[in-house]
Amino acid sequence: MASQNEDSLQKSDASKVYKKKRRSSWMTSLRFRWISQISFFILTIYVGWMFYLFVRYCETGGATVFVTRPPGVEAFLPIGAFMGLKYFLGTGNVDPLHPAGFVIFASILVTSLLFQRGFCSWICPVGTISEWAWRFGDWIKSKFNKGVKYWIEAFPVKLTCGLSLISTPIVALMLLEMISFDSFKSPSMKFIFPLMIAAIIIPFALPRKIWPFRVEDSIARAWKYTLLAFFAVNILIKMPAAQLGLIFAKAPYMKVADIKMMKFFLDLSILAIIILSVLFVFSIFNKNYWCRYFCPYGALIGILGWASIFRIVRNKKTCIDCSKCTVVCPVYIEVEKKNTVYNLECLGCYDCVDSCPVDDTLDMKILGFGKKIHYAVYAGLVVGLFVVFMNTARFTGHWHNNVSVQEYTEWVQNLDDPKFEHQQGEFKLEE
Ligand code: SF4
Ligand code: SF4
Repeated sequence: MASQNEDSLQKSDASKVYKKKRRSSWMTSLRFRWISQISFFILTIYVGWMFYLFVRYCETGGATVFVTRPPGVEAFLPIGAFMGLKYFLGTGNVDPLHPAGFVIFASILVTSLLFQRGFCSWICPVGTISEWAWRFGDWIKSKFNKGVKYWIEAFPVKLTCGLSLISTPIVALMLLEMISFDSFKSPSMKFIFPLMIAAIIIPFALPRKIWPFRVEDSIARAWKYTLLAFFAVNILIKMPAAQLGLIFAKAPYMKVADIKMMKFFLDLSILAIIILSVLFVFSIFNKNYWCRYFCPYGALIGILGWASIFRIVRNKKTCIDCSKCTVVCPVYIEVEKKNTVYNLECLGCYDCVDSCPVDDTLDMKILGFGKKIHYAVYAGLVVGLFVVFMNTARFTGHWHNNVSVQEYTEWVQNLDDPKFEHQQGEFKLEE
C-alpha cells in the first residue's frame, strides 16, 4: 500500500490514481541534449579557430602554421545560403564557392521538415548560447521580488513589440514596392513620427487585461518573419538563378564573404558592440530572445516544421493539470492546454516531457502511430540526418570548393581593395 502511494499521483478532482513516472537513471533528456549542444558548440569553436589560423597563414604569406580551410565556416553566411538555395532550385547545381554553406542550410531545412525544430534545441550553437544565457538569467531573476522580475522579463518583449509595430508595416510596404528609402525624405514623413512614438509607448502603457502577453509576443515575433520575407522576396523570388551563377563566378565580394564575416566579428564597430550587447542582455532576461524574435532561420524552419509528423502529444485523460510542462517550456507554449502541440515555436527540446510527473501522459509521438519516441531516438534522428548530409556531401565532392590556397592568399592580402566591397545588395562583377 505504501509503495502504491509512492508510485502514484492523484488528479486534482481526487477521482483517479495515476502512475507516477519512474526515473531509472541520472540521464535525462535535458542532460542528453546538453551533451549534444556542447559537442556542436565545441565543434563550432574548433571550426572558427581553424579558419582563423588559415586566414593568418594567408595574411602572413605562409609564415604561420598551415591548416586547411574548414568548409564548415560557411554555415555563418546565411545570405549566401539563401542564394545557394535559389541557385540550386533554379539550376540543379550546388554553389561552387560555398558548397558546404548550401549543404548545411539544405540539411537544416530537410531536418526541420521531418523533425520540426530539433536543429534549434539539439545542434544550433546560437540556440545553445541563448539557452545558457536565459538559464543564467533565471538564476539572477530568482534573487529579485515579483515586480522587478516582471519588468526585467517584460521590458525586452515590450520594446521589441513597439519597434515591430513600426518596422513591420514599413518593410511590408517596401516589399510591395509601395514605398522606398527615398520616401523617408518626403516632408510628409514628419506626421509619421508621433505615430512611431505612440507605437513604442503602447505596449508599456496598456494593461495586461486588454494587451495580453500573447498579443505582444506575436507582434514582436513579426521581426523574424519580416526578415525572412525580406530574404525570400529579394533572393528567392527576385534574383534570377543565372544571375546568381554569375555572382558566384565573378563577384569578388562573394569570394571573401567568409573572411569579411570573420573580420567583422574580430573588429567590431561601436555600433555592433552596442547591438550585440543589448541582444545578449535581453537574452539573459528573456528566454531565447534572439531565436524567438529575430532569427530568420528559426522562422523558416518553424514554418517547414509544421509539416513534421513528430509532435508533442498530451493524454488529457491522465493529465493532472499540474502545469509543470507549461512552466518549463522555453518558448512559452501552454502545453497543458494542448492535446497535440502544433506551434511554430516548438523546439522539440523534450523539457516538457521530462517535467511531466505522470507516466504515459506527455510524449513525443509520430502522428498516426501510438508509440512514444524516446529522446535519444529523436536526437539520433535529428543529429544523425545532419551528419549523414555532411558526409554525403564530403564523399560526393560537394563539401570543399576548388579555390586554391594561392588564390585565398592573394585575396586576403588585398582585402582592402575596393573591388571586395559590398554595396547595399549590389555585387560588383569582375571583367
Ligand atoms: S512544447 Fe515541449 S518540446 Fe516544444 S518547446 Fe515547449 S518544452 Fe520544448
Ligand atoms: S501534461 Fe503537463 S499539466 Fe498534464 S500532468 Fe503532464 S506536466 Fe502536468
